[in-house]
Amino acid sequence: MVHLKSEEEIHIIKEGAQILGKAHGEVAGLIKPGIKTSALDKVAEEFIRDHGGIPSFKNYNGSFPASLCISVNDVVVHGIPSNYELKEADVVSIDCGVYYKGYHSDSAYTYPLEGADEKVLLLLERTYESLFKGIEQARAGNRMGDVSYAIQSYVESFGYGVVRELVGHGVGKKLHEDPEVPNFGKRGKGVKLVPGMVFAIEPMINMGTKNVVQERDGWTIRTADRRPSAHFEHMVAIREDKTEVLTTHQYIEEKYSYKWRSKSR
Ligand code: MG
Ligand code: MG
Repeated sequence: MVHLKSEEEIHIIKEGAQILGKAHGEVAGLIKPGIKTSALDKVAEEFIRDHGGIPSFKNYNGSFPASLCISVNDVVVHGIPSNYELKEADVVSIDCGVYYKGYHSDSAYTYPLEGADEKVLLLLERTYESLFKGIEQARAGNRMGDVSYAIQSYVESFGYGVVRELVGHGVGKKLHEDPEVPNFGKRGKGVKLVPGMVFAIEPMINMGTKNVVQERDGWTIRTADRRPSAHFEHMVAIREDKTEVLTTHQYIEEKYSYKWRSKSR
């Protein structure tokens, strides 16, 4: 069942999303070779709590042990922060959620470290572009399949694999609500998009096969062929006249020292 949000609720979610965006920015400023992923997690958790939020992911399902999902190289999503030290040419996805005044917000960004292969930069760039192709279709009167198709058709044109097991989702009082937001689908199919819907669009795109495997830790999802993967996520609110992106990557772009996207434009 889809819970439609009032303007007041959307306003609160946007406030939480600002804390989330700034937490991402704090992390972005620290991403470089030699930093432990657990150190990034600590910074995010402290920032969120200092600003009146609670990390949405911590203890999710009674078992996720951290505030960030940090997914390096062939890890698609749900990587657990650890003693691993980032190194040159790694590609690292950071996913974070904030619970604030009774509502969640959720967003993700994938960073290439300096030295990353040009093919990896293209995977990231195109995955990021696919997110916005999905957002363009996320408007009142369209169907979810229009969003899904826009993402899938774009990335598959480059031969990339679209992960099937994991999808975007509604967000609100719960981190994961209806509707599902698949990154694959058919135009004109799926639930109708109506004002008051708030959901996360999050393409998870693999350089090679779409197939993934789960590690024995119960969380970490890797590509089956061990090639790299990319993940970007924004939340949107559907309104009658206009769709609004509620989350922001602005602070990430300001704080991350490697200006990789400008290079390929
Ligand atoms: Mg999400
Ligand atoms: Mg997320």
